Amino acid sequence: MFFKRKANIESPVIKEAYVLGTVIQLKVYGNKAEKAIDESIIRLNEIDDRMSVFKEFSDISRINKNAGVEAQVVNEDTYYVIEKAFEYAKLSQGAFDPTIRPLVNLWGVWTEHAKVPSKEEIAAELQYVNYKDIILNGTNSSIKLSKEKQCLDVGAIAKGYAADEVKQILKEDAIKSAIIDLGGNIFALGKKFDGSLWNIGIQHPLSSRGKFVGIVSFADKSVVTSGNYERYFIQEGKRYHHIIDPRTGYPSENGIISATIISDYSIDGDGLSTCVYVLGPQKAMKLIEGIRGVDAIVITEDRKVYVTSGIKDNFKITNEEFTEADLFTIGGRAK
Ligand code: AMP
Ligand code: MG
Repeated sequence: MFFKRKANIESPVIKEAYVLGTVIQLKVYGNKAEKAIDESIIRLNEIDDRMSVFKEFSDISRINKNAGVEAQVVNEDTYYVIEKAFEYAKLSQGAFDPTIRPLVNLWGVWTEHAKVPSKEEIAAELQYVNYKDIILNGTNSSIKLSKEKQCLDVGAIAKGYAADEVKQILKEDAIKSAIIDLGGNIFALGKKFDGSLWNIGIQHPLSSRGKFVGIVSFADKSVVTSGNYERYFIQEGKRYHHIIDPRTGYPSENGIISATIISDYSIDGDGLSTCVYVLGPQKAMKLIEGIRGVDAIVITEDRKVYVTSGIKDNFKITNEEFTEADLFTIGGRAK
C-alpha cells in the first residue's frame, strides 16, 4: 500500500526568476506552494509581455509607436495600470509622470551610454513630458498619446500591479503565508508561518545591500521603496539616479534618498513611493498622512527618518547613524 507523502508545510518553496527587468523571488508556505509559484511566474511573464517598454509588441510599445497618430486598444491589465498611473500623476500634480520616458532614455541611467545631458538636450525632451496628453478611452480600453515622440513608461508602477496579481493567485491556491519579492518591491502575504508578524528591513540607502536603517513589522501588506541607490551612474564624483523630476528634467534632488510606502495594495505603494520621492519630505508626509491605510518611511540625506503616525509603533530604527525626525517640525498632522 502506498501513502502519498505529506508536503512539509513548515519549510517554504522558494523560486527565483528574471522577469519585469529584475530578479524576483517567491517564498511560499503551504501544500500548493509549487503550483501557486508556477502559475504566478506565468502571470508575471504575461504582464511583462504587455507592459515592457523594450518588447516590440507590448501594449506600451504599440502606444508609443503610434503617439500622435492613433489610439491603440490594449489589454485590460495595461489599461488599468495606465489609468492608475494617470491618477497618481494628477494626485502629485505631475511629480509622478508616466510620460517621463523621453528623459529616461536621454539620461540612459543603467545603460552603457549613461551621461549627463546638456541643458538644451533636456529642454528638448521635456516638451514631450505631460501626463495630460494621455487620452484614455474606457469604452473600448484604448489609449493614445496626443503628440508624436511622446512615450509612456509604467516602470514606476507595473511591479506593484504585478505583486497584487501574484498575491491574488496565491490566495486562490489557499496560500496563507508568503513573501512576494519583485526586485525589492515586496508583498508579505498573511503572517509568518508561526503566526507572528513579518519583519522587513528598510535598506540603508548609503550602504551596501543587506544593511538596514530599521525594521518594520506588519501582517498582509505591501512594502515598496524608491531609492537613489537602485539604479545610478557617477560622473565627476556626483551620483545621478533613475527617478527624474518632470519639472526640471534632472534626477530628483530634494533631500530624499529613500521613500518607502506600506499599503494594502502594492500598485498604490509603487505609485506613491515614486510620487513621494519626487515631492520631497514636507509635501510627501502631508500627502501620505492624509491617505487612510497608507504609511510612509522617508529617509533624507542628512540621515533623518520621517515616519507617518500609522506605522510609528511598528517601525524601529536599528541603525544609530539615523534619527527620527519630528513630523510636527514639517507641519505634519495626526490621522
Ligand atoms: P520606482 O523605482 O518605482 O520609483 O520607479 C522608477 C522608474 O520609473 C524609473 O526607472 C523610470 O523608468 C520611471 N520614472 C522615473 N522618474 C519618474 C517619474 N517622475 N514619474 C514616473 N515614472 C518615473
Ligand atoms: Mg514606484
